Amino acid sequence: MYRKCEVCKNDDVEVLYNLKFKLMEHIKLPDNYDIVFCPVCGFVYADTKATQDDYDIFYRDNNIYENDPSQSDIAKYDMIFNELSKHWDKEDSILEIGFASGSLLKMFEKNGYTKLFGLDPSKECVDKLNSVSITTIQGNILSKNVGKFKNIVLSHVLEHILDVEGALNSIYSMLEEDGTVYIEVPDMMQYIENNTLPFNFFDIEHINHYNQSSLSTLMFVHSFDVLSSGTKKWDIGDNKFYPATWVLCKKRNNPKLKVRDYIKTYVDTCLERKYPEIEDLVKSQEEIIVWGTGSLTQRLYSMANLSECNILNYVDNSKIKIGTSFNNRVVLNPNDIASGDIPILILSVYGTGEIIEQIKEMGLSNPVISLRCI
Ligand SMILES: [Zn+2]
Repeated sequence: MYRKCEVCKNDDVEVLYNLKFKLMEHIKLPDNYDIVFCPVCGFVYADTKATQDDYDIFYRDNNIYENDPSQSDIAKYDMIFNELSKHWDKEDSILEIGFASGSLLKMFEKNGYTKLFGLDPSKECVDKLNSVSITTIQGNILSKNVGKFKNIVLSHVLEHILDVEGALNSIYSMLEEDGTVYIEVPDMMQYIENNTLPFNFFDIEHINHYNQSSLSTLMFVHSFDVLSSGTKKWDIGDNKFYPATWVLCKKRNNPKLKVRDYIKTYVDTCLERKYPEIEDLVKSQEEIIVWGTGSLTQRLYSMANLSECNILNYVDNSKIKIGTSFNNRVVLNPNDIASGDIPILILSVYGTGEIIEQIKEMGLSNPVISLRCI
């Protein structure tokens, strides 16, 4: 396989079909790829041996997008403009990545937006879009030093990009801190009901296939928070429709925070935790009663030295635990505790306060030990 799942990095994917093409002779892309399905996250993609560089050259030299927009394109851009004009202020900058004919940028321009920028790999597209309020830049989504923008829009671009992770990192770095990005792609969950000709949605250019869920997941794992998302379709004539899904995201406030790093930080923080109450009991070796045999107690066997404490008994309020065995001792009913000097160590995540009350109500004189912060 050439590509791992771009959403979840799984490489145990299912090949659904090997799609073959007869390409024009000047096209330097592989003439076939596997359509694969990731069973972990639902992402569908072309497992092509082409590289991002191959695709960069392809889009630079084989542009078909500078042509005037079709009726269907206008319908598509109308819907996008209507959505984004609700959220984006006229004073704020907008970068469209892959602007093609520039029709969407011109809609913004016509409606009073002035800080408009377009990035496109095709020289024809860049040369053709002549407008005083639109600054055009020839380059691709991975280009460096394009600038910083308040808002970024990608209309039917992300399904064309091989290096999805690189693209999203690039968008992240091009966005201002409080910026938002709108991404729209074909919605694969509407392919069947909008089927026109066989494999119409799978071609040499459309190499990523999302639904609302996998698109949102993709954004989430790349440090964006989804503000809103949806599905749509628009009329392409002959009573046919083109299906799409979209997300509007903002940069996550904590810069560069990836889910993996976030959870790793949580794990590291957990591992730093000390349990002085338990250490004292290990040192003193005084007999104790442990109240609670749930997950906290079970974890503390490996994370703290609970196993080295001198534990006389366990008690638990849970009827299904009473009478069972834990660490070679029978779990007792709290009513079996004899009032006296043996300390009770309470190990309960959420019930410590209630257990202290219960001990008072039972009239037990035993000293009570609980872990701080619980
Ligand atoms: Zn996946």
